[in-house]
Amino acid sequence: MGDHREGHLNGPNNPGLGPVVFLDRDGVLTAPVIDSRSDRPESPYRPEDVRLMGGATAALRVLRGIGATLVLVSNQPAAAKGTCSLADLDAVHAEFSRLLAAEGLHLDVVRYCHHHPEATVPRLRGPCECRKPAPGLLVDAARELGLTDFRATWMIGDSDVDIAAGKRVGARTVLIEEPLSVHRRTGSAAPDHRAPSVLSAAQIVADAVGHPRPEDA
Ligand SMILES: [Mg+2]
Ligand SMILES: [Zn+2]
Repeated sequence: MGDHREGHLNGPNNPGLGPVVFLDRDGVLTAPVIDSRSDRPESPYRPEDVRLMGGATAALRVLRGIGATLVLVSNQPAAAKGTCSLADLDAVHAEFSRLLAAEGLHLDVVRYCHHHPEATVPRLRGPCECRKPAPGLLVDAARELGLTDFRATWMIGDSDVDIAAGKRVGARTVLIEEPLSVHRRTGSAAPDHRAPSVLSAAQIVADAVGHPRPEDA
């Protein structure tokens, strides 16, 4: 489910994949929404709640500027937990895509995990191989891209589980220390880099791609 494929990977001006950058969505590209029931920042469950994160469009432009292939990998268990419907989550994705398109941006591959181990909706109950920290979303997207070597890949996220999933495939990792999602970080993730924002994270990737690690030379 959620196997949206957007855009073209190998257009005439893009003969290779470039660096492949896996991106989490909430707290990275979309702003967390304060849930009125819990008073905590959560994922948007309604299209009217979707806002792009400050710096998100600039970050994606930086990554496009280095020829990166952009892959969204996002856990979205709200329908599994009965908070909203899968149709609601699809509508949220559609609005997210529309906001990006309005800025002339798109993501090359999109993968969502809609499962949860304690789902109230039986067909969405885990365990699954795709809910981060499991690497299934990244592996599945890589398969679609024909990517077999993860050394030139990156994972950018704001939660410990993003960093863990990235490490499982051998991606280099950037943890965004977004204040609204501090409850999703324990301090033990051990990312390769830390950044205060998604734009800063994108600049770290761009700088590193210009200066490969010695073992990649
Ligand atoms: Mg997140
Ligand atoms: Zn899953």
